[in-house]
Amino acid sequence: MGKGFFNTPTAVNEPIKSYAPGSPERASIQKTYKELYDQHANIPLYIGSEEVETGNTLPVNPPHDHQHEVGKYHLANESQVKDAIQAALKAKKDWAELPWEQRAAVFLKAADLISGPYRDKINAATMIGQSKTVHQAEIDSACELCDFLRFNVRYMHEIYQEQPASVDNEWNRMEHRPLEGFVYAITPFNFTAIAGNLPSAPAIMGNVAVWKPSDSQMLSAQVIMEVFKEAGVPDGVINMINGDPEMITDTCVNHPDFAGIHFTGSTNVFKGIWQKIGNNIHNYKSYPRIVGETGGKDYIMAHGSADPQVVATALLRGAFEYQGQKCSAASRSYIAKSIWPEVKERLVKDTKSIKMGSTGDLENFMSAVIHERSFDKLEKYINQAKDDKEAEIIVGGNFDKSKGYFVEPTVIETTNPKYETMVTELFGPVLTVYVYDDDKFEETLHLVDETSEYGLTGSIISTDRNAASLATKVLQNSAGNFYINDKCTGSVVGRQPFGGARGSGTNDKAGSKFNLLRWSSPRAIKETFVPATDYGYPHMEK
Ligand code: NAD
Repeated sequence: MGKGFFNTPTAVNEPIKSYAPGSPERASIQKTYKELYDQHANIPLYIGSEEVETGNTLPVNPPHDHQHEVGKYHLANESQVKDAIQAALKAKKDWAELPWEQRAAVFLKAADLISGPYRDKINAATMIGQSKTVHQAEIDSACELCDFLRFNVRYMHEIYQEQPASVDNEWNRMEHRPLEGFVYAITPFNFTAIAGNLPSAPAIMGNVAVWKPSDSQMLSAQVIMEVFKEAGVPDGVINMINGDPEMITDTCVNHPDFAGIHFTGSTNVFKGIWQKIGNNIHNYKSYPRIVGETGGKDYIMAHGSADPQVVATALLRGAFEYQGQKCSAASRSYIAKSIWPEVKERLVKDTKSIKMGSTGDLENFMSAVIHERSFDKLEKYINQAKDDKEAEIIVGGNFDKSKGYFVEPTVIETTNPKYETMVTELFGPVLTVYVYDDDKFEETLHLVDETSEYGLTGSIISTDRNAASLATKVLQNSAGNFYINDKCTGSVVGRQPFGGARGSGTNDKAGSKFNLLRWSSPRAIKETFVPATDYGYPHMEK
């Protein structure tokens, strides 16, 4: 145990670099991008101290240049997944017994490695492997991942500090034990920061993890493992396993030592896993913690008092940054009729000016969508809108997958507020707008609330305080992250803890104390100084 009451460094958000022409960071990222683009990465499984090459591989291709190969990753079989579980369980005792400040130091070092020597590499890997522009990569893989690591260390400290009351003759203490068993982390393609956070948040609380990254995030996943290794995460504490999602998941959730799942991804996948966990409930040694952040159908609601320029900018940024592939992306919008002509004019004009292409060209604002499955799905919905009478494409609507999976930023105007693209999560650069009568504001708020199964993010844009207040009230359960006079994306660790309810997840707020508490099994210890020596009570006296 530490001989002192240590403090942890104050967590502050990692400053965002601009990559403007002439800046040193621009030259540096361009050099690293080129190096990674011309290399051929070999991405193994990370099991305990071993980097396992199974020989059964799949290629890694940039979505914006899908014929180009930048590496390959090795796929696990069932026995290797079991090896990863064993490696985690073997590392468990030493990791759990390590004083908390040693654990903290490991992850603070990881943050500093990302902020410094690994910044270009993790950003370039995200730009190439997930087709993020340099700004989108910077705010995700560099800044947000640093923030998750530093703030979670801070939150761990605060959780440990919070102690119960004691009275005369007793001292009450609370200790936070890691869960018995291992935590299984499954991560999505769209945020490198989430990929790093889901296995490390439980590990910060003293747990061991088996991590399955997305097939579409393998290049930056490897950089995360390199950082963890260099930071001193002991062998076996975080094991990375790639391959068939169902087989890996079944192997993990069928294991009696499965202690919890930390998932981010789509709603149906999460529901399927939850069901499997339920079916196995009699096989576990404890009740597994189930934490999942899932899909969204996020909205921007504009009141008649809103500035049309503010609305148009929020729509464009909210809907099209990272090709609309943020769980928080604006994909349905409700605009008051009185301001729609001006909003429309500006939105169409700005959307037409968007430059789209390779992320290696820093002038681009957008790039390709993640894979062919996503491209084909978006093509289907856009073509359907071209045919439907109740929908009109007011800008965009074209696509081309000859070199990369490019889908033009597209705005659909619909006369049906329950039109399919107002309801279904498409996860691409497609925004649907419904124009409502100004005097039906309150009615439309109820429509917003009732239209989708999700409850992740949403925003109200209004200069009328009463309207903003009414929206805040009526839309209370429609979003776990609600914005007033802003777009519905761009939450920052430590400032807007992130997560939604309804079909959007368990709302355990990534990058917050609420999340970390899920990875702790608290033990209350009562010590009595002068224990009783007689079983009787005063009321028993004659
Ligand atoms: P996805 O559900 O396809 O994949 C997520 C992870 O689950 C991947 O690692 C994948 O390999 C794995 N997986 C897929 N099928 C599986 C199965 N049958 N069994 C077990 N695992 C399986 O999601 P995606 O396309 O990577 O990410 C996009 C989705 O994630 C969107 O729905 C988005 O809204 C959601 N998302 C939510 C948040 C949030 O905080 N709420 C954040 C990011 C992404």
